[in-house]
Amino acid sequence: MSDSELLESVATSLEEERVRLPLVALVGRPNVGKSTLFNRIVGHRRAVVEDRAGTTRDRLIAEADWNGKRFRLVDTGGIQPAHGNVIDVAVQDQARIAVASADVILLIVDAASGPNPADAEVAQLLRRSSKPIILVANKADNIDRERAAHEFSALGFDRVHPVSAQHGSGTGDLLDVLVEQLRALPEDAGELRAEGEVTVAIVGRPNVGKSSLLNRLTGIERTVVSDVPGTTRDAIDESLEHAGRHITLVDTAGIRKRGKIAAGPAAEKWSTVRTIQALERADVALLLIDASTGLQAQDLHVAGSVIEAGKGLVIVLNKWDLIEKDGFTFDALEAKIRAQAPFLDFAPLVSISATTGLRATKVLDAAIAAADACRLRIPTGVLNRLVADAVARQEPAHGGSKRPKILYAAQAQTPPPTFVVFARNALQVHFSWQRFLENQIRERYPLTGAPIKIIVRERSAEEGHARGRTRTKATGGPR
Ligand code: GDP
Ligand code: GDP
Repeated sequence: MSDSELLESVATSLEEERVRLPLVALVGRPNVGKSTLFNRIVGHRRAVVEDRAGTTRDRLIAEADWNGKRFRLVDTGGIQPAHGNVIDVAVQDQARIAVASADVILLIVDAASGPNPADAEVAQLLRRSSKPIILVANKADNIDRERAAHEFSALGFDRVHPVSAQHGSGTGDLLDVLVEQLRALPEDAGELRAEGEVTVAIVGRPNVGKSSLLNRLTGIERTVVSDVPGTTRDAIDESLEHAGRHITLVDTAGIRKRGKIAAGPAAEKWSTVRTIQALERADVALLLIDASTGLQAQDLHVAGSVIEAGKGLVIVLNKWDLIEKDGFTFDALEAKIRAQAPFLDFAPLVSISATTGLRATKVLDAAIAAADACRLRIPTGVLNRLVADAVARQEPAHGGSKRPKILYAAQAQTPPPTFVVFARNALQVHFSWQRFLENQIRERYPLTGAPIKIIVRERSAEEGHARGRTRTKATGGPR
């Protein structure tokens, strides 16, 4: 099963919002016994287990319960370090799925074979999330192996839980600990929250006023400065509270420094790299534009990076104090920008002056709204009715002789909201129909500031609903 299919099935499962059960992910190298443990916990023996890496699995997600606590268990299929100790992209995807969708992660290691450098890599990858992780040493079939299991404490977790998935020993204790963790989760765990932290990157070409805005914001609100572990040595984030929300401004050191770097191609390149790095860690970008000069080509490049990164976007027209205004100035400038960059339609526009402070905190309100929009999840039933309505209103235009047929849709992930529309003859679905659908979605949901992605995938008659080679037609991206 490919990663995209895995992602899809996780997402589909997440969409079963009739019962919002917390999700527990089994993660670990191949052959450590994940699917055996999965079956042990789920209580049936239908998944095929073979004595080699790359075991066939016929179930990925199943419901389970212990002492009256219900949860869903997902077998991520193994985080597989590629040649040597390098973790390849597919592996990161699997960890990402676990980290993104699970409420609790069970990291499985093999007590029979002992510690493996790959375990540490996987642990490190998982630990970057704040999700609770329970370390499970499987194949602790006897006292000797149970003792040996404690070698895994070198991985740095509070406890090692020795179990034998095959014989069942230790699994009751493990489930007790798991259920304790599940009960400690906040009420809405697993749901995408309208509350929560918002991470903001201030981006834009040199001299648009990024550091002035930063100073303005941090001057208004009380800030907390912190180093960012695992990033460029000099990356420093600052946090502040606004409207009851915790806001982190990413790479503030970079913003403050940028102004002092001489202009020129090298500086520009450096600033691009820095922007992309900051975007990686952000939910939302504040794209600053100099209102006195209007939208420039380089502004569009930066905007493109934001969209490529799939982040929320707020366009900030700075230096509003420099502009001669009447009641129509803002609307006129907005119309001009919209015409210049139709692919930024989804982003709100805010005019401010970092120097005078005019409306400066409004950018934070807009950033919070955009971050929340990016996390929006449309229930599958509602989405499919919306798609059916859209089809009824406008059949997908097509180029070839083969008529495309839209089958159904699911939200594959968020943020940003990404929708997968399954169709026959998917390649024939014209891009204009995707835009039409996007507009239909935006009409129904407050998605201001959130880029959304619509992917049309082939689902042929022979393959049916369950599996299917997928073919991506469009990437979403600029509309
Ligand atoms: P996965 O690739 O991590 O899902 O691992 P599997 O569940 O497919 O198990 C790999 C191999 O380890 C199989 O041969 C299992 O029978 C064996 N295995 C799983 N759990 C245990 C256990 O608790 N004790 C022993 N001795 N073998 C186990
Ligand atoms: P950065 O390179 O994007 O960080 O830009 P700076 O914050 O260093 O600002 C560049 C120049 O624009 C400085 O001279 C600022 O004083 C000026 N500037 C920034 N914001 C404003 C503003 O809102 N109004 C005016 N008039 N000048 C501004």
